[in-house]
Amino acid sequence: MNAKTALVTGAGRGIGRGIALALAKEGYQLAINYNGSEEAAKETAALCEQQGVKARIYRCNVADHAAVEAMIQEVWKEFGSIDVLVNNSGITRDGLLLRMKEEDFDQVIDVNLKGTYNCIRHVARIMMKQRHGSIINMSSVVGIAGNIGQVNYAASKAGIIGLTKASAKELASRGIRVNAIAPGFVETEMTDALSEEARAAAMGLIALKRFASVEDIANLAVFLASEKSSYITGQTIQVDGGMAM
Ligand code: NAP
Repeated sequence: MNAKTALVTGAGRGIGRGIALALAKEGYQLAINYNGSEEAAKETAALCEQQGVKARIYRCNVADHAAVEAMIQEVWKEFGSIDVLVNNSGITRDGLLLRMKEEDFDQVIDVNLKGTYNCIRHVARIMMKQRHGSIINMSSVVGIAGNIGQVNYAASKAGIIGLTKASAKELASRGIRVNAIAPGFVETEMTDALSEEARAAAMGLIALKRFASVEDIANLAVFLASEKSSYITGQTIQVDGGMAM
């Protein structure tokens, strides 16, 4: 078992919880970030602890630069290192371009893109001192291919791909790797919100004819966190069942 520490944002539920659990099974200690769902975050922590690892929860809005700095300092003090950062937190505020409110555009960019920047910005200092680290950013196939009704979300997820490449180039010499995962449709609360019609339309685009499980995404996160991916940086890897080729 290793005693490395992973910080996973938005780990109370969905993909974040799945990644936290998969990392706990690999022996990582877990810092679990949440914003609104305290009970869910506690449940994730309890599930991680059942794997025999230490887990703590941290409330923080990732869009808040100063709050992220404070959270990361707290995590560092508690665990003594941050070896893996998974920027998973994300929101949608869907609507057609001509009807989209400015605040819906801003909010999605603030949480998804600026939130990712905020966490990388403050964790990078620690990882540079350690001279190692793996950062994994949650993009989306929508950031690659676009999607009707999601100009804000697509822009945020495409932005994450650029952020991943630029920070991978800046941080490589310090032993820090930065990669992104671009899931297609994953079975979580986010996709529960889809209408039957939208679900059927999505299924029509997926070569493997099923939505991803949370574990399908978590398996890649575990690989990118580990030394098994030590020669991979700056990449965006699609886990989309052959949806966008
Ligand atoms: P989800 O079930 O809606 O969960 C979203 C998570 O983000 C929650 O844990 C939530 O925490 C957290 N979050 C939201 N706003 C936050 C903020 N301001 N600060 C900190 N945390 C915040 O979503 P999911 O489906 O698991 O998606 C996880 C990630 O994968 C997202 O980045 C999403 O864009 C991406 N993704 C999902 C799919 C999919 O099909 N599901 C596909 C492609 C990409 P609280 O509940 O505590 O607020």
